[in-house]
Amino acid sequence: MRSLLGRGARTVASEAMHVVRRLVPGRPGTARVIYYHRIDDEQHRSCVAPRAFAEQMAFLRGEGFNVMPLAAMRAHLDEHRPFPERTVVVTFDDGFADNYDAAFPILARHDVPATIFLAAGFIGGDDLPVLRDRSGIRPMTWEQVREMARHGVAFGAHTLTHRSLTTLSPDDLRQEIEGSRDLVAERVGAPVETFCYPRGHFDERVNQATRDAGFRIAVTTQPGCVTPDTHPFSLRRTFVARDDSLHDFARKLDGSFDLLHAARQRLGGGAPAPSYD
Ligand SMILES: [Zn+2]
Repeated sequence: MRSLLGRGARTVASEAMHVVRRLVPGRPGTARVIYYHRIDDEQHRSCVAPRAFAEQMAFLRGEGFNVMPLAAMRAHLDEHRPFPERTVVVTFDDGFADNYDAAFPILARHDVPATIFLAAGFIGGDDLPVLRDRSGIRPMTWEQVREMARHGVAFGAHTLTHRSLTTLSPDDLRQEIEGSRDLVAERVGAPVETFCYPRGHFDERVNQATRDAGFRIAVTTQPGCVTPDTHPFSLRRTFVARDDSLHDFARKLDGSFDLLHAARQRLGGGAPAPSYD
């Protein structure tokens, strides 16, 4: 009975993939950076269920997407070189423990390169207080960070305390950016090349401070794709939500949700994930 059910589920999944395959041509020469927060069964908009996440990673691999490490995008941007067809980059924000418990085995199984941006001051503690509507969620430990790094997961900086950078004094701005760079580099034992603006808030001053700190790429929460002419410190990303079906996921990769996300962001004056980012 179990195997019959399993086979049935696989057939449905395979038919679903067949249907969505035709919907994912993507814009030629562009790449899409997707981002997650938690991978967990909790009923929260920014918690993608482990089962759905596994399905999404299997979809990327099964459908032949070019899954690229984030840092590898820089060469394309420097040379204004088009990205290979269907290029996707996988990222996570903040450094929740479930990224290790739930996401890491799935990433490893499907050999998907990923970058996790750490709110570095909270790593190894009891709480990762970056959400607007949820508290008491554990961050990963530095030992978990190192284990993932040994297995090819890349780590980027996401400040020390997750404060909105646009309102900080010059000293605080430098401390948040360079402090997180140094802490992650020291704990991982490798230079940190990528940065993520908390809540997607950045302006020219923040952008410059990030460049001055020696990062090579910075990502935002502005929706859309990355073109060969995108500024390396203003990369757009696409949010994957808990209630996304595989069909929704495929359409997000295709850019079908970009206009909706942009409209919602303008109306809300913030990130496409209103509860946290
Ligand atoms: Zn964040």
